[in-house]
Amino acid sequence: MALIEMIRCPNCGSHAERHHLTLAGQVKIECDVCDYLLILDTQSGQVVEFQPPGNDAEYLHMRRKHLFIKIADAIAHRELVR
Ligand SMILES: [Zn+2]
Repeated sequence: MALIEMIRCPNCGSHAERHHLTLAGQVKIECDVCDYLLILDTQSGQVVEFQPPGNDAEYLHMRRKHLFIKIADAIAHRELVR
C-alpha cells in the first residue's frame, strides 16, 4: 500500500506528492506542475529514476508510464510472495 504525502516540489515549489511505496521499497516524488520526478530506493538510498523537468513531454509520459508498470509489477510480486 502506498502512503501519499503532500510536499513542496524541490524544483518549482508547487504542491507535489511524495509516494511511499513501502512494498517496492521506494519513495517517489512527483510534481505535475513541472513534471519533476524522483524515485529513491529506501534501502540503499540510491536514485532509481530521476527526470528533470523541461524535457519532451511525450518522452516523459512514456518513461513515467513504463516506470509505473515496473513499480506495479514489483508490488504485485511481493504481495504474491507473501
Ligand atoms: Zn514542480
